[in-house]
Amino acid sequence: MTTAGRDSLAGLLRRVWGYDRFRPLQREAMHAVMEGRDSLVILPTGGGKSLCFQAPALALDGVALVVSPLISLMKDQVDALRELGVAAGKLHSDQPPGEAREVLDGLRAGTLKLLYISPERLVIEGFDAIARGMPITLLAIDEAHCISEWGHDFRPEYRQLRAFREACPAVPLHAYTATATPKVADEIVRELGLRDPARLVGSFDRPNLFYRVEPRTEPAGQIAEIAARHPDQSGIVYCITRKETERLAEHLRLLDVDALPYHAGLDATMRRETQERFINDQVRIIVATVAFGMGIDKPDVRFVVHAGMPKSLENYQQESGRAGRDGLAAECVLLHSPADFMKWQFVLKELSPEQQRITKRKIESVDRYCNAWSCRRVALLDYFGEKFGEENCASCDVCAGSLEPHEDSLVVAQKILSCVKRLKEEHGPGYTTRVLVGAKDKRIAEDGHEALSTFAILKDHDRGSVRSWIAQLLAQGHLEQAASGEAPLRVTPRGWEVLRGTGPAPVLMRSGTKKVRVSKRAAAELRGVDPELHARLREMRTAIARRRKLRPYIVLSDRSLLELARHRPVTRAALHGIHGIGDARVEHYGDDILRVIRDFLRDHPEAAPKPPAERPAKDRTAVRREAFALLREGRSVEEVAELTKRALSTVGGYLLEMVAESRIDDPTPWVDPALTRRIEDVAAEIVVDGRVRPLYDFFEQKIPFWKLRLVLACAERREGQSAD
Ligand code: ADP
Ligand code: ZN
Repeated sequence: MTTAGRDSLAGLLRRVWGYDRFRPLQREAMHAVMEGRDSLVILPTGGGKSLCFQAPALALDGVALVVSPLISLMKDQVDALRELGVAAGKLHSDQPPGEAREVLDGLRAGTLKLLYISPERLVIEGFDAIARGMPITLLAIDEAHCISEWGHDFRPEYRQLRAFREACPAVPLHAYTATATPKVADEIVRELGLRDPARLVGSFDRPNLFYRVEPRTEPAGQIAEIAARHPDQSGIVYCITRKETERLAEHLRLLDVDALPYHAGLDATMRRETQERFINDQVRIIVATVAFGMGIDKPDVRFVVHAGMPKSLENYQQESGRAGRDGLAAECVLLHSPADFMKWQFVLKELSPEQQRITKRKIESVDRYCNAWSCRRVALLDYFGEKFGEENCASCDVCAGSLEPHEDSLVVAQKILSCVKRLKEEHGPGYTTRVLVGAKDKRIAEDGHEALSTFAILKDHDRGSVRSWIAQLLAQGHLEQAASGEAPLRVTPRGWEVLRGTGPAPVLMRSGTKKVRVSKRAAAELRGVDPELHARLREMRTAIARRRKLRPYIVLSDRSLLELARHRPVTRAALHGIHGIGDARVEHYGDDILRVIRDFLRDHPEAAPKPPAERPAKDRTAVRREAFALLREGRSVEEVAELTKRALSTVGGYLLEMVAESRIDDPTPWVDPALTRRIEDVAAEIVVDGRVRPLYDFFEQKIPFWKLRLVLACAERREGQSAD
């Protein structure tokens, strides 16, 4: 291919879409189309598959046919293309005859560049067009996994596509999907009859998604908190059962969170209306079963919460992947509880033994994901056979340091386990919790359990934490239950080892210190954005969308709005520099946008347009410097953690650096003097080669590493000095 061809694709990207860069593999995928070679392109949701055939379609003569499984998807794509000034149309069996005729006229006259077509219609019109010698440049097949019986979304109509290939062997085929399993890919190639296709498989990492896992304590409250982190933005909440979607949506509304339920049991009209309201930003949150999602390409979903455990990590990847298709920061939260495990076990009963085995393994993988103390992104990608380049992704709760193990994990676990024993393994999590916190409870008194040595043994902790620790012990296999809910707790052999102090200790999450850090990405996106102007621009977008009967995101993307509110362009030329604003949008909305910005600047002359250069973020080094200064003042690690909003362990690390840098040899401003002496004494006995682990274990893992290291480092420095 010529360089001119390449330039013209980049030029199209800029002029038509207002994008200045290709996403990974887009360029390669476009080249395959330009060269007329069959291709199979596998990119994650939001990877930008549509552009892979849309841009070449504009660069090539003739018309491109696009097969898509759902009418709603077709409508969205065609509306979006028309907004960009592209001659696009759609043909399906559920369409007013006038509209279909107009499209067919365009096809025959050769004025159409892209025709979206349902598989059934393709067999009729496509063949007809070919017979009449119409220049069909390519056939793009969206959601190509629908042809696979192994996939999760088989559509028998897709099998007819094979007939098209046989009838029109000269038309190149291009298949696009987000389903990555090799089995499905092979089936696509075979069923479509692709000839030596260019196979392009992208990374399934979604760098703009922040992954979080939390034990489910009070779902409505937890979801309200997540929603509050994304004011006015859209989110999806997934539940396991229909009843849960209704209950949870209602509960959220009681908390003043705008939410509606969605599940397959609602009648079709209701479902359609709910979906439309969500897409048009008339309701913020949908609480749904997994029936919701397919056929919704809403790009600006800012959070996806699983209020119940997903059935597999494949499902989780797909469902959580509906967040942040537009590439802006978004958050995926999984609220889990041992009860869900039971719920799925129950569903299992209806399957064949072979299916049961497979499904059970998948559920167990999800359970492991939830209770792991390592990077979520690494775990997810690893499951799909992909290695993540770094150890710390900085965008999950574990890597961002949101989770902190309880310093007394072992002792707390032993208290809980011994309480379960003392209750003769006859009581469930709720009752056990009440005994542990020493609740005033008639039943406990009557049963004589106030006399137990473990009664009120965790009275300094709140009930929620204790309940959650029991859940964590269940999940980590130290406790078990024969059924869900209040079924009696039993100590497992693993739990016994903990009681005896011989087995690996459980790690329990520290309560109250769970710091929810928003991703750095999200913070960076909002930097320099004037909230008032942003709100005014959003209003403008809503008004235009209503007037033109278009989805708000088709009028202007969230990213465009953010850039407008940050750079505040006041000329048409400057509008061209904004992401997502190409020629057609300047033409259509340029005046509206400029009016809103000029009005705003008249009201706020101090907010004159900013040059694109931004103030650098308060980055890691800045925080570190701040932490150093505070520590030098002699402030405690706890205080500094609070002030800098960093984890204790992170600040502990800073302290170690600071102490080394300043050659400090006295740890007592930060570690209690008596404890310091005790650590020094023990260290003299057992520490070899500076290894801290034995010391950590000696103190029953109750003293954090940074404290131990600090004491050792200072002692070493003192010795070094006296030797000088
Ligand atoms: P997919 O079909 O792979 O899920 P889409 O084609 O719907 O993804 O693209 C997702 C979003 O990303 C769309 O809003 C699209 O306009 C946008 N997009 C695609 N390519 C680019 C690019 N090169 N630069 C910026 N945005 C892009
Ligand atoms: Zn991570």
